Amino acid sequence: MFRKILIANRGEVALRIIRACKELGIRTVAIYSEADARSLYVKKADESYLIPGDPVWAYLDYVRIVDLAKSVGADAVHPGYGFLAENAEFARFCQKRGITFIGPKPEHIEMFGDKVKAKKMMKKLGIPTVPGVEEPLKDPTDALHYAKEIGFPIILKSAYGGGGRGMRVVKSEKELPQLFESGYREAETFFGKGDLFIEKYLENPKHIEVQILGDKYGNVVHLGERDCSIQRKHQKVLEVTPCPVLPKEMRNKMLGLSVRAMMQVGYESAGTLEFLVDIKKGEFYFIEMNTRLQVEHTITEMVSGVDIVEQMIRVAAGEALPFTQSDITFRGYAIEFRINAEDPKRNFAPAPGKITAYYSPGGPGVRMDAGVYKDFVIPPYYDSMIAKLSVWALTWDRVIARAKRAIDEFIIRGVPTNIPLHREIVRDEDFISGHFGIRFLEEKLPTYD
Ligand code: ADP
Repeated sequence: MFRKILIANRGEVALRIIRACKELGIRTVAIYSEADARSLYVKKADESYLIPGDPVWAYLDYVRIVDLAKSVGADAVHPGYGFLAENAEFARFCQKRGITFIGPKPEHIEMFGDKVKAKKMMKKLGIPTVPGVEEPLKDPTDALHYAKEIGFPIILKSAYGGGGRGMRVVKSEKELPQLFESGYREAETFFGKGDLFIEKYLENPKHIEVQILGDKYGNVVHLGERDCSIQRKHQKVLEVTPCPVLPKEMRNKMLGLSVRAMMQVGYESAGTLEFLVDIKKGEFYFIEMNTRLQVEHTITEMVSGVDIVEQMIRVAAGEALPFTQSDITFRGYAIEFRINAEDPKRNFAPAPGKITAYYSPGGPGVRMDAGVYKDFVIPPYYDSMIAKLSVWALTWDRVIARAKRAIDEFIIRGVPTNIPLHREIVRDEDFISGHFGIRFLEEKLPTYD
């Protein structure tokens, strides 16, 4: 087992990884920018090092990060999510310098990072994908040609992207040239390459994803699915596990195909296969695979009892998974709320600033993953998510009751947050029915005001 792990991340996820390490008796090394000097994770790590200069580059400058890992005697690096988590070059660089990268093999990060290649690969492995063009496109005229073939509405997506960037829903032919240009430009700014690909736009499917864990010996298990349909601007806001309305047969098919595909590629560490699902038609389509720990892993941990971060560490250290699929049992339901410092009155724009009051929920079935506290000043440079509230209960009815109770207990003052929005969601009849799709919030937001 590793003696010392450097955490190449910040905020709540850095703290999450520190917690797993402490329970395993592994020393932890945190890095931080000047803007994060007062963050909780910096205080909780055994050692913390300032990376001066640009506050974002601090978490991306991997040569410097690996140099630091070497100089402090760390034997492994955990990248968390975001920043370097899906950077194959970083994973390779770690290997080259004799530091273990806690995550999948670099070639898998690379392959699944290219969404077009990933779809082709999955199709070959027998997994249905969304109908579309399996080529990255640079030219709006080509795009128009293919879009007509597929039929509007279509969605343009960045071939190398994430976070909804470069994504554009195109309803008609005449909208296409302008939306292609703006999507291309956005993708180019964020990912260096503007290439877009086209998919049929599915009207209101569910977003359901499968959590996978694999080891170096070809063992792969699933930890069930999560329903991540509650989204704003293609970004997840609240997640649920298991999906309360997914028919058993469909679930088994999705989980089974996912595990089989990951066994075939020899996938290692934690990963997530994302699908769009039409429950009425009984159809599901793969959209992408994330080769990292996900924000919403907490709810899977609550229903499966598996510590996903611990297993990532163990597998990276060369241990075999300690369970087979039949050893894993799922119990109850869990919901995660992403608490963002953002202003609902300003179209949910990020709202950094000082937290003047902070009372987090507690009691039975409540889990908090937060990086903030009273008097903490949220820096303006990073993602607006400041905390995650996850709740568990034995039944769907009870988890709704508990979710209401817990989100009502949450008090954050000084900065606006999306807590009021969450309170509305868990009281919404359509949400409670379980029959909600990815456009749920888009349709509901005006009625919540
Ligand atoms: P990103 O990696 O940028 O987050 P994804 O491919 O994971 O992009 O898609 C994010 C979200 O965008 C999905 O959860 C869904 O809401 C929406 N989306 C993606 N593809 C489609 C599609 N073909 N039809 C309808 N919505 C889609």
